[in-house]
Amino acid sequence: MSRFFSEKYSSLTPYTPGEQPPKNKFIKLNTNENPFPPSPLTVEYAARAAEDLQLYSNIGCTALTEKFASLIGIGEDEVVFTNGSDEGLNFAFMAFCDEDHPAAFPDITYGFYPVFAQLNNVPYTEIPLSDDMSIRVEDYLGIGKTIFLANPNAPTGRALPLSDIERILSSNPDNIVVVDEAYADFGEESAVGLIHKYDNLVVTQTFSKSRSLAGGRLGMVIACPELIRDINTIKFSTNPYNVSSLTQAAGLGCLTDEDYTRRNIAVIKNNRQMLSDGLSKMGFFVVPSSSNFVFTRHPEYSGEFIYTALRERGILVRHFTLERIKDYNRITVGTEEQVSAVLKALKDILEENS
Ligand code: PMP
Repeated sequence: MSRFFSEKYSSLTPYTPGEQPPKNKFIKLNTNENPFPPSPLTVEYAARAAEDLQLYSNIGCTALTEKFASLIGIGEDEVVFTNGSDEGLNFAFMAFCDEDHPAAFPDITYGFYPVFAQLNNVPYTEIPLSDDMSIRVEDYLGIGKTIFLANPNAPTGRALPLSDIERILSSNPDNIVVVDEAYADFGEESAVGLIHKYDNLVVTQTFSKSRSLAGGRLGMVIACPELIRDINTIKFSTNPYNVSSLTQAAGLGCLTDEDYTRRNIAVIKNNRQMLSDGLSKMGFFVVPSSSNFVFTRHPEYSGEFIYTALRERGILVRHFTLERIKDYNRITVGTEEQVSAVLKALKDILEENS
């Protein structure tokens, strides 16, 4: 830390993103990316947009907003596009949390929440998950805090039914509930339909996972018009051009080929089943997943041992050092070949060490 660094950030511990090794060095199953490339239309639209890069990007993401809003049945004033959903989540911390509106989220969840809270000087409470890694809804009823819930949760993969999200929303009418749906396309139910019923609901979504656009950095905040105006106040006070022209065009191209996205989601869900079944057969405990990853531990081997042994065989998964989950690894669901490779490697590891 330099002597010039502001005192207010001196104790900030930044978020640690998953490793991004050089292409093809590993079978990369550590950051929940989509194993399939962006659709041809995504690439075509982005390439065309490159011809106009001398101009600033459209601050309202107009074409993208029109297309997205009509596709999911919301008003154009009910969405803001962001630089990945990380930016949308930070905007929500800035807009809806302070000393009087402290944040609350599970103890095991997306590691960026505590960082955003610290960055914005927001007091926060981490509410323990139950032993089976599920969120206990009762812990969130009427707690009078700004609640952040990843649904499905990460890194566990477990999802809450919409009825539980509604109980949390209706019991905290004077507080915002942010539902982070980064992985919702791999589960069953999105809370987006509830924005017309609850004026305290904020949903964040992303193109990074189901839509193969992690490197494009495109996310969205979806809520009633009044909350969207608040988010826009933050956006226009930080970075009005937060979504580049290339990314806006890529997003539009992507939405123009919904079949491509739907087909890939179906394949990933099949492969998730194959991965979960294969792991269970080898004696791994597998948390039921509604996401594009599986959270798993073996009763006899440490999480670190499994992580290192896979890495030595050229397969990268995500291991967390947090005490409660240090025996787990999170494995992104890849192509059928990648799933076969990780299962084969694990079988070899277990046989060699039995
Ligand atoms: N929420 C959760 C739960 C995540 O796992 C991630 C991905 N790391 C994000 C949000 C942010 O994704 P992005 O900024 O790529 O949209």
